[in-house]
Amino acid sequence: MGIRVSGVTKRFGSATAVDNLSLDVETNSLVALLGPSGCGKSTLLRMIAGLDNPDEGRIWINGEEATGRSVQDRQVGFVFQHFALFKHRTVRDNIGFGLELRGWKKDAIRRRVDELLNLVQLQDYGSRFPSQLSGGQRQRVSLARALAVQPRVLLLDEPFSALDAKVRKELRGWLRNLQEETKVTTVIVTHDQEEAFEVADKIAVINKGRIEQIGTASEIYDHPATPFVMNFVGEVNVLPSELHSHSGADLFVRPHDIELLRDANGDSVPAVLRRVTHLGKELVAELQLENGQKLNAQLPRDRRDLDGLQNGDRVHIRPRAGHQF
Ligand code: ADP
Ligand code: MG
Repeated sequence: MGIRVSGVTKRFGSATAVDNLSLDVETNSLVALLGPSGCGKSTLLRMIAGLDNPDEGRIWINGEEATGRSVQDRQVGFVFQHFALFKHRTVRDNIGFGLELRGWKKDAIRRRVDELLNLVQLQDYGSRFPSQLSGGQRQRVSLARALAVQPRVLLLDEPFSALDAKVRKELRGWLRNLQEETKVTTVIVTHDQEEAFEVADKIAVINKGRIEQIGTASEIYDHPATPFVMNFVGEVNVLPSELHSHSGADLFVRPHDIELLRDANGDSVPAVLRRVTHLGKELVAELQLENGQKLNAQLPRDRRDLDGLQNGDRVHIRPRAGHQF
């Protein structure tokens, strides 16, 4: 196992930031810690890095116990949200810094830095200073610097969140390739569901210091373990139990799993069409149930059967799929 976290708890005063949490990260895999702000993601990552110590529980890296060991001993590479490059050092010198500290010879450092510049596709930028780079390029330098010393695990704390949406998207694909090439066991913290789904082999959804579910993107999206998970990884409508025939609990339905009908059919539920919004590749119909509750149905853009429907018209809806908890 690349990383094993076992029963780890971290408290700050009376607040519990990480609550008896266990997590296995397979060697050479990339796991995303996904959850809302304040749920304990950074605290967990810092404990894996050795920047913080757990109050309870134990941590192993590559099968060796790391609990209580120093940051240096653990041989982890770390990249934070905010660029932490040395301003007065060139890209080359930034990447080679850790190697200098470890007493590597100049020639060996040059060769290793060349390798890394290639890896992060910044071959022509070695002599630039951080101020002469874009935000995305700076984060690639940070990654190269973290990888320089061949860490046993790579820990990334929202590394792309300070960048604009387009660059962020580019860097995700790029990180995926980098990880496939280096195969270094990686944990990335993010609060962005799309980012987690795009880069990670497995996603751990965290809420209030605990893992609610860990699994692949499709396991998490199609088989959410809890209402929190279902809500956090996509839009959801809640059909109260009295409105659908599946007895007992509320039914949680994705907008793309709501079927819109002109006429009542079987167990369909009456609703009023409030508005249709065109979102380019799809349509969103805002609907209101008889009890006043609103919900959204997502429909393909070529839905001809919507033609002629007006806001305020009576329609019927039927859930095609849903989850009960
Ligand atoms: P996330 O990274 O998921 O946003 P954090 O791990 O940073 O969350 O924080 C989890 C909780 O622990 C939050 O309530 C936060 O305020 C608290 N916390 C984190 N670090 C400290 C600290 N050094 N001192 C006191 N409270 C902290
Ligand atoms: Mg954080």
